Order: sequence, then structure tokens, then C-alpha cells
Amino acid sequence: MKTPTKKNLLSAITTITNFLNHKNLCDVSNTPQRVLQFYEDFFYKYSNTNINEAVEKSLLSAENYAGQKICVSNINFVSFCEHHLLKFEGSVDICYIPQKYIIGFDKISLIINYHSHTLTLQEKLTQQILQTFTLLVKPSFCEVKITATHDCMRLRGQCKTTASITTTQSFVQNF
Ligand SMILES: [Zn+2]
Repeated sequence: MKTPTKKNLLSAITTITNFLNHKNLCDVSNTPQRVLQFYEDFFYKYSNTNINEAVEKSLLSAENYAGQKICVSNINFVSFCEHHLLKFEGSVDICYIPQKYIIGFDKISLIINYHSHTLTLQEKLTQQILQTFTLLVKPSFCEVKITATHDCMRLRGQCKTTASITTTQSFVQNF
């Protein structure tokens, strides 16, 4: 796909804002610019991040802690579903048993942000966080659990405003 120009993007967003402003009651003249700015800020925030390099720099030897179970809970995230372009948000719990490395807690958040600041699905996000974590940290066990609420469940279809979805995926090293 050809990369759209800024002019293309503003024109596309203007089409949508004009469609939404069907009663002509709103001043949407500067809205396309603001929406585009938001898209750039959110979806491109980590586009220049070399995740492998950033995480590898923070790894410490697990020599003295191998076998200890480490869990980090309630790490909040926001993402957008690729089916409806609507937000889903929630928290990630990640547990691992180190074997080769332990990782700085802030870098766990970086892995989550790196994969969530894009269009995705909760299932895919769960898998990507697990894959990046296990590839870089090389634990003997890791489990990623995501609990999230989806605006596409709240605002459309059966409009379930309180329902949440939990996805869990784990990795166990085969010896
Ligand atoms: Zn959706």
C-alpha cells in the first residue's frame, strides 16, 4: 500500500467528520488536524523503538534467583481493536520463572506498550507479549494474562457495558 500523505489523511478524516456532523451543529474545522495528531502520537509512539535492544540492555543474570516465581500484576494498557477501530483497555499480569535472566520491571511495561500502541486484537496482544518476553528473557516458564473491556462490546452489538474478556497464554520450556 502506498503511504498516504498528510493531505490524503486530513482529507479522509474530513470526510468522516462531515459524515458524523450530519446535523451541521458542530465546528469540526480543526478536528481532522487534532485527530491526525492523536493517531500519530498514539500509533507511532513506539515505531522507532528497537525493542530487542532496549530490553536486552536491562537484563540481569538470574544466577541467584533462578527458580523464583516473579509476578507483576495490574499493568494497565490501552489499545485499539483492528476490527472496529475502537479502544480496548485493561491490565496485564505477567508471571515468570527466570532461568537465564531477570528483567527490569519498567521494561515489562515497555514490551506491553510496544505491542499495544497499534491496531490489534486481545488474543494477538497476549501472544505477542509472551513471545517477545520469552525470546528475550529466556525464562523456564512464563504466563501472560490480559483482562480487558472493549468499546466495541460496550457501544455496538448487544452493548454489554460491564463485560470483560480474559485471555491467558503460557510458555513452558521443554527440556
Ligand atoms: Zn472490536
